[in-house]
Amino acid sequence: MNSLRPASSHLDGLAAYDPKFMPAQAYLSANENPNDISISLWKTIVKRMEALPFNRYPDPLANAFREVIAEANELDRSEILIGNGGDELLFNLALAWGGPDRSFLNLPPTFSVYAHNAALTGTRVIDIPRKADFSIDEEAVLSRVGKGDIDFMIITSPNNPTGNLADASFIVELLESSDTLIIVDEAYGEFSSVSMRDHLPDHKNLVLLRTLSKAYCLAGVRIGYIMAHEEVINELIKVRQPYSVDAVSQVIGMTVYEQRASFESLIADIIAERDALYEKLNEIPAVSAYPSAANYILFKVDEADEVWHKLYEQGVLVRNFSSTPGLSDCLRVSVGSNEENNLFIAALTHILEDKESKA
Ligand SMILES: *Cc1c(COP(=O)(O)O)cnc(C)c1O
Repeated sequence: MNSLRPASSHLDGLAAYDPKFMPAQAYLSANENPNDISISLWKTIVKRMEALPFNRYPDPLANAFREVIAEANELDRSEILIGNGGDELLFNLALAWGGPDRSFLNLPPTFSVYAHNAALTGTRVIDIPRKADFSIDEEAVLSRVGKGDIDFMIITSPNNPTGNLADASFIVELLESSDTLIIVDEAYGEFSSVSMRDHLPDHKNLVLLRTLSKAYCLAGVRIGYIMAHEEVINELIKVRQPYSVDAVSQVIGMTVYEQRASFESLIADIIAERDALYEKLNEIPAVSAYPSAANYILFKVDEADEVWHKLYEQGVLVRNFSSTPGLSDCLRVSVGSNEENNLFIAALTHILEDKESKA
């Protein structure tokens, strides 16, 4: 026999997540940090790795690393969970709080991974689309959650790909009005310097998600973490793969996290570059950029698909959202190095001038 029984029917029509990577001179499409870690930090990591036995399984929960994160956030180790990137933790949340007969409230346009995880776990997705300026339809969300049948929801703040923050008082109102698990995805929180951390002690149903992939330059290593009530963490521990955070990643992640103060000036530089990029984008008459509290900027331009192709021809890869519902004619540019940002602005200006002269 050379035939194959079909996979589970809930995978029908589901496409794999595609980061749409293509080689480019300026890679401004994945919201990565344009800098790698410093040589001195790298040397510290290598030194620590020399003491690592590769033949032994790692500590499943990375307790030493959990302790460091807990202390930095004035929490207990039992309130921290480390994952193989924030993405693994998002999947664990869907496994633990989703499933058949369970409901997830989504606020599109937002990170596409959430809806994908819901589909994988057979969770019903209820969409409450954002308003035209990408702010959350707060009244609609409060009233929908008030019905009492939403098991979990994710508020991305700053939102990816739109860049705007959610209002803290709205989140508090939501937390107080229901027992729905409210995940605040703060993957880009370090670029906005706001966090819901201070609200954790008052709300068992609040979960914060963070990652070392963006502000802390570790997208290639895969470390994310959750801060939440111990009861939430204990449920997540039941569904997680025991050894998903390997020994090497534990050492790298912990060393970087311990040295996080040394990233502050790098983060400040990215914020300054973002603000300059936003100004420059809005100086181009055909472009309208949305304000951002993250390390990327969403912008609108006519015939975005064509503009995206022309940018790529000039060596600049940005993310094309023009076929995403609610984001027609939108592209997202990640804040790169000063040289990359200048290359991007020059290419975009050139493309749009060229189009204008042909029109
Ligand atoms: C990047 C990102 C994450 C997590 O990324 P990891 O690399 O898996 O840690 C989570 N949420 C959002 C919105 C992101 O953009």
